[in-house]
Amino acid sequence: MKFSIVSKGDERSNSIKATIKQYLTDFDLVYDKKEPDLVISVGGDGTLLEAFHRYVHRTDSTAFIGIHTGHLGFYADWVPNEVEKLIIEIAKTPFQVVEYPLLEVIIRAKSGASEDRFLALNEATIKTADGSVVFDVEIKGEHFETFRGDGLCVSTPSGSTAYNKALGGGIIHPSLEAIQLTEMASINNRVFRTIGSPLILPKHHTCLLKPIVDRSFLITIDHFTETYTNVKSIQCRVAKERVRFARFRPFPFWNRVRDSFVTDEDKKK
Ligand code: NAP
Ligand code: MN
Repeated sequence: MKFSIVSKGDERSNSIKATIKQYLTDFDLVYDKKEPDLVISVGGDGTLLEAFHRYVHRTDSTAFIGIHTGHLGFYADWVPNEVEKLIIEIAKTPFQVVEYPLLEVIIRAKSGASEDRFLALNEATIKTADGSVVFDVEIKGEHFETFRGDGLCVSTPSGSTAYNKALGGGIIHPSLEAIQLTEMASINNRVFRTIGSPLILPKHHTCLLKPIVDRSFLITIDHFTETYTNVKSIQCRVAKERVRFARFRPFPFWNRVRDSFVTDEDKKK
């Protein structure tokens, strides 16, 4: 089996990376940065997002696992003092895999045939540094509303505990193949009207955002931001690709949510 390790880059994460690399190599596993079967992320959720995007072209063949040296660790659920246990589990291969849905975003330009396609593990957001965003929202080819406000967030189920949660969105179990749209400060009065509630769209229900006022848009995909002008449309739907996580022990999603946001009493015991 071939593996790779992505570190947050701080001293502690780098030293854990070095330990894992040494041990797994001793177990005859092959360190391969190019075509790994397993990618070990050492850091925080941000590090796992980075690892995901580094290998985003290999969704079919690469699985991820996270060790957290940072704060929260929603995706990164192994702690440094479990590293030896984890190494032994990895060395035993094969491992079990759980798959979570991803978000597909296609940004089309007004002029020409150019389009950019992205996959997001957490979410995409559409904002502007330039007043309000104003766009028509179409769902399954039908006009739904004209949105005016700070922006929109479109998240995956596993990303529903990230930015989406801060915007009042619901937490969606990743066994549901869906995406969620949440509003950022929509303008609602006699003239402008939006639904106001988060919307949860199933697979195949495509959402299309069509700018009415030509603005320069700030489009985020997980942890990175890109500026776009001349945008004809932004299309969002559940991607056909899925992210694969290596599971060496059960850690149910709701326990993960509880431990991250309510209490991690069990861990303190
Ligand atoms: P960051 O500023 O470190 O991320 C914000 C926090 O979100 C961190 O505590 C991060 O954990 C945590 N996080 C990331 N993915 C999560 C998930 N799926 N469930 C629960 N918590 C999660 O920036 P970053 O590490 O590069 O992460 C980028 C993400 O930040 C974006 O995808 C977006 O979801 C989130 N974000 C949130 C807000 C907000 O809540 N108002 C605003 C902007 C961006 P770690 O500390 O372990 O990295
Ligand atoms: Mn972070």
